[in-house]
Amino acid sequence: MSDSNNTALQRFSYCPLCGTELSRSEGSGGAYCPVHDHSWYRSSSLTVGCVLIRDGRALVTVRGIEPEKGSYDVPGGFLEAGEHPVDGLRREAREELGVEIEGVKGPVQMAVHRYGEDGDYVLALGFTARIAGGEPAAADDAAGIEWISPEKLEGLDFAWEHDRELVRAALDHEGNNQKDHGNAGGGG
Ligand SMILES: [Zn+2]
Repeated sequence: MSDSNNTALQRFSYCPLCGTELSRSEGSGGAYCPVHDHSWYRSSSLTVGCVLIRDGRALVTVRGIEPEKGSYDVPGGFLEAGEHPVDGLRREAREELGVEIEGVKGPVQMAVHRYGEDGDYVLALGFTARIAGGEPAAADDAAGIEWISPEKLEGLDFAWEHDRELVRAALDHEGNNQKDHGNAGGGG
């Protein structure tokens, strides 16, 4: 992929408010509108995702929309402007699974990746949480859900590799907690 021809790396050309052609701001990477006396910047879009664990298994979703439709993913999505990451996670859990979550921890992962055909940059924040109540069922842009064991994790076709790493870390952590609790003096 040629970066010089890549929309993800290009600056804005016209002011989104008034359509005036923007000039390059020196050094900062922004693009300046003289009408609004304002510099516009492109930065990574923010997403939040979370691993929900129950009985030693992690909940993963099957993507119902492009990009990567049909691949595995974790519950979550793009943050809205001004939205706190934890509020965004709660919203996504309601939209995609129909459940409330509690005990949100993190971010436990920060991953920069590229999304979709244009390769736009995304900063993915990964969390862990628990389901506060109710049975999750796939809705919105999730086509299905599965509870997966650590043994099944490596064989799944994840849309983004960092999601597998997030799930693996959460399952490892959960497994170690179980060992500590079930094995007095087991340590480690
Ligand atoms: Zn303007």
